Amino acid sequence: MNRTHGYDAVVVGLGAVGSATLFHLARRGLRVLGLEQYNQGHTLGSSHGDSRIIRETYFEHPLYVPLVQRAHDLWRELEKSSGKSLIKITGGLMIGPPGGMVVSGTLRSAREHNLPHEILTPAQVHERFPAFELEPNLVAVLDPRAGYLDPEACNAAHLDAARNAGADIRFNEPVVEWSAADEAVIIRTRTETYSGDRLVLAAGAWTNGLARDAPLRLEIERQSVFWFEPAGSTGFYEANRFPIYAYEYKHGHICYGFPRLPRGVKASIMHSGKTYSLPENIERAVNADEIEPLRAALRPVLPELAEAPVRETGVCLFTNTPDHDFIIDFHPRYPRVLISSPCSGHGFKFASAIGELQADFLATGKTRFDLSPFRIDRW
Ligand SMILES: Cc1cc2nc3c(=O)[nH]c(=O)nc-3n(C[C@H](O)[C@H](O)[C@H](O)COP(=O)(O)OP(=O)(O)OC[C@H]3O[C@@H](n4cnc5c(N)ncnc54)[C@H](O)[C@@H]3O)c2cc1C
Repeated sequence: MNRTHGYDAVVVGLGAVGSATLFHLARRGLRVLGLEQYNQGHTLGSSHGDSRIIRETYFEHPLYVPLVQRAHDLWRELEKSSGKSLIKITGGLMIGPPGGMVVSGTLRSAREHNLPHEILTPAQVHERFPAFELEPNLVAVLDPRAGYLDPEACNAAHLDAARNAGADIRFNEPVVEWSAADEAVIIRTRTETYSGDRLVLAAGAWTNGLARDAPLRLEIERQSVFWFEPAGSTGFYEANRFPIYAYEYKHGHICYGFPRLPRGVKASIMHSGKTYSLPENIERAVNADEIEPLRAALRPVLPELAEAPVRETGVCLFTNTPDHDFIIDFHPRYPRVLISSPCSGHGFKFASAIGELQADFLATGKTRFDLSPFRIDRW
């Protein structure tokens, strides 16, 4: 890339994906700018809430396994270079009926990629992880390399590393419009105008509005999350005895959760929320009646947790594609503009690897991963 313009690349949005991309671009010696509409650590997007599952087996599709393996290595590298704790391995239980989507998809990815795993009966699960009491018709696949990431710490580590590598970073500076010509992309914020050879739109739930006429078909989904405070069985919910889990409680429907962290024992139902076209319209408060579906979903596997008092609630946003695979592709009309939407509720774990591959893609036009499943024109 030449440097006749202001920046080699401008990244819009500094959540999980933008902060990782900014770091990997800066690490290559490129002159980069990151722009974020809100403050660092804000809670209006998709990358807050103290925990995100990372797992090596991947019931959604085995194609994600090499990507998560690279992501895992890069999180470890970032952990080392930042001196911050980012990832905790607890193991992961993928629970459901034996022929269900979670169990069969997990086994398929484990077998295709030769991943370590164990198939456990309800009694074996209870013996190792006493808070879990699975109904007899259920089975669990244990992924020993699963665990959770600390999203706020991960984003901060990427931003610090980007800054140290020379990136310019501006918070509270929303991008209001951009235009792309043969020579450069012009980016206008509320207060400034910048130019760059390339523009990366990593704007999460705001992507539809910023991507202009790209046919993205993104839908924003509100997700409510709950932190429980189970009173009894002290010790059963700590990370050494309580792995992360995903449970298919109804055909194709999943609830999931984490061990006890300072805010409590977090759990939620995947894809249970109302959908919106604009993030500005989303109801941010959690209503009291939203808890009952989660309690009902948890009862067949975590009966005590299902009845525990709720200590805190929160709202977070999914940005869904129709097939729940990601979008990572250049804008169909503007080849200087990369659109990046690795969400659909499962993108955080990959952010470190996606940052790297997007930087490769921008700098060289190539990556070590096949990005064809993430093309915009796949529908
Ligand atoms: C409740 C919940 C649970 C999840 N659990 C998991 C999990 O366990 N494991 C997992 O791997 N993934 C999980 N995910 C998904 C994961 O968190 C997301 O895929 C990931 O955080 C998406 O990051 P992002 O950078 O694309 O979006 P965001 O973090 O939302 O970042 C986009 C940023 O762009 C900024 N922006 C937007 N418009 C502008 C503008 N005009 N100018 C400047 N800045 C702008 C926004 O303010 C925002 O900060 C979960 C998501 C939610 C909501």
